Amino acid sequence: MSNPSLLILPGDGIGPEVMAQVRRIIDWYGDKRGMRFDVSEDLVGGCAYDKHGTPLHDDTMAKAQEVDAVLLGAVGGPKYDKLDFSVKPERGLLRLRKEMDLYANLRPAQCFDALADFSSLKKDVVAGLDIMIIRELTSGVYFGEPRGIVKEGNERVGINTQRYTESEIARVARSAFEMARKRGNKVCSMEKANVMESGILWRDVVQEIHDAEYPDVELSHMYADAGAMQLTRWPKQFDVIVTDNLFGDLLSDLAAMLTGSLGMLPSASLGAPMANGRPKALYEPVHGSAPDIAGQNKANPIACVLSFAMALRYSFDAGDEADRLEKAVEKVLADGVRTADLLGEEGVTPVSTSEMGDAILAAL
Ligand code: ATP
Ligand code: MG
Repeated sequence: MSNPSLLILPGDGIGPEVMAQVRRIIDWYGDKRGMRFDVSEDLVGGCAYDKHGTPLHDDTMAKAQEVDAVLLGAVGGPKYDKLDFSVKPERGLLRLRKEMDLYANLRPAQCFDALADFSSLKKDVVAGLDIMIIRELTSGVYFGEPRGIVKEGNERVGINTQRYTESEIARVARSAFEMARKRGNKVCSMEKANVMESGILWRDVVQEIHDAEYPDVELSHMYADAGAMQLTRWPKQFDVIVTDNLFGDLLSDLAAMLTGSLGMLPSASLGAPMANGRPKALYEPVHGSAPDIAGQNKANPIACVLSFAMALRYSFDAGDEADRLEKAVEKVLADGVRTADLLGEEGVTPVSTSEMGDAILAAL
């Protein structure tokens, strides 16, 4: 059997710096755990524009469609701010998401004990927190027609349409139930069925998919506004949360801040199952290219490292190995190793990007 394939797109800014640490970890898995990947590397974003005049070359797009998983660093930077919209670095990432049809955006909110003081909430509310928010990413009010700003009599009217089909709801619901089976076996679905028809349909379809295909998973429903309250009151009551594009946008940012630094947050975007049964998948840190610290060996590589851990778990059926990597990160943090973004306390000297990589490898 051939090795699982992984396309690495380091991108711009701190992308290549943090990805270099992940490449060392991938090599470690090959050498020490016998987990070998067919790794290829290519350009996306500004660096692709510099070379090809487009932020994503067709050959790279085709490659992304074939591999088992794509791992991306970050795109963009001030150098490209004046470019025409059609060739902006971000368009490379949007094209990947659109053509791979990545409809389920996974944002874990996980709080490492050593960083619990970083949260905006009390320590006991967040210590040990481990939840997963699944946001529908390709439909809903950000895409629904009609949309626009039109004239009605003497005034302008801004219009957007919240629209969900049964199949769009069903497929992201399945992603959530599959995810729950690999975690705490619990899903909470959030909508506004009290005031929105799309919310009523959302609730019905999620319940139907549950009853027919995933009766073993515990399912609850919550209005999204109440969900926001509960997320800040006692977030540990949740395991997997599934919600639409708009509410997911808000709730996932809210949940991110429960845990602290942008430099810690991984994400995955998943699409339909491929012939091998695994979903199309793109993994990337939540943070951007951080031009203010790019090229200085200062960036925190943990968000990118944890994105690779998600790939191990969700694309390569290697949950134990993902646990191993997450435990290594946890140990490094418990030992007090900190990149500059994780420093609140006085008297601790920050480590560099590569030193954080050294520490994670040593912990592995
Ligand atoms: P984008 O627009 O590219 O999505 P953004 O402008 O919202 O991103 P980032 O580029 O992620 O945000 O940077 C926001 C701030 O967070 C910057 O000050 C940056 O230096 C810091 N930051 C982001 N990622 C990291 C990281 N991995 N390590 C340390 N600091 C980071
Ligand atoms: Mg930015």
